[in-house]
Amino acid sequence: MPELPEVETIRLQMKEEIEGKKIESTKVISDKPLGNTTVEEFKERVEGAFIKDVKRRAKILIIKLSTGDSLLIHLKLTGRLLLLRPSVPIEKHTHLIFNLNDGHQLRFWDLRRFGYVKLVSGKLKEVLELKKLGPEALELSLNEFRNILAGKRSGKIKSLLLDQHFIAGIGNIYSDEALFYAGIHPERNVATLKEDEIARLHEGIRKIMSSAISYRGSSMDDYVDLFGKQGDFVPRHKVYRRMGKPCKACGSLIKRIKVGGRSAHFCPKCQV
Ligand SMILES: [Zn+2]
Repeated sequence: MPELPEVETIRLQMKEEIEGKKIESTKVISDKPLGNTTVEEFKERVEGAFIKDVKRRAKILIIKLSTGDSLLIHLKLTGRLLLLRPSVPIEKHTHLIFNLNDGHQLRFWDLRRFGYVKLVSGKLKEVLELKKLGPEALELSLNEFRNILAGKRSGKIKSLLLDQHFIAGIGNIYSDEALFYAGIHPERNVATLKEDEIARLHEGIRKIMSSAISYRGSSMDDYVDLFGKQGDFVPRHKVYRRMGKPCKACGSLIKRIKVGGRSAHFCPKCQV
């Protein structure tokens, strides 16, 4: 699943490419991503609108329209947003097409169909799925991070990092990489974390995700950027999906275990 760095990569590219453009028309091939909005209503409210801004909250992209409406886009497991020329053949699993006034098409493609493109009116603050998110992972100060950890008192750190109500934007890849950076075992109970470990974890989250953004994210499965290109961060992974391979720091073999139903990759020697 695309995490904060992958979604941020797409957001930056969208801001550059489509901000200020007009959505002249839309083509709804499948209405599943629209949720409760009917195709008629979607077309009526989106067609003719200008794209005012492209924002992001956690793993959700927010396209702000000149009409006051917004489009909330979640790529979930396999979603892609692609900017293409109309002459490029429409691939299977393309569900929505936005025809822009500069001649490009923004296409929403999703193999597994868990993703969505929801039309939202009014204040975003009132939108439940945004309201219940925890603080943004890259905007959290060390003190705030300490405070939210202190408020937890128990639970495994890996599970906590994945909990979007606790901290928003981190998924399986970057929780594993940040825990390696901090030298913390994924099954550690948060109550046992020392001050310096918390500080290193906070630093790891920021450093690794910022670096991943500069490499346009990690293409593990289906993720590609707005131009259909893979991200370049995977070769920089220290532990994620490197089970059985030597640790880049100490040479021990990377292990994979299940923590709360999710896989965790770690070095048994570097992470205590
Ligand atoms: Zn190691």
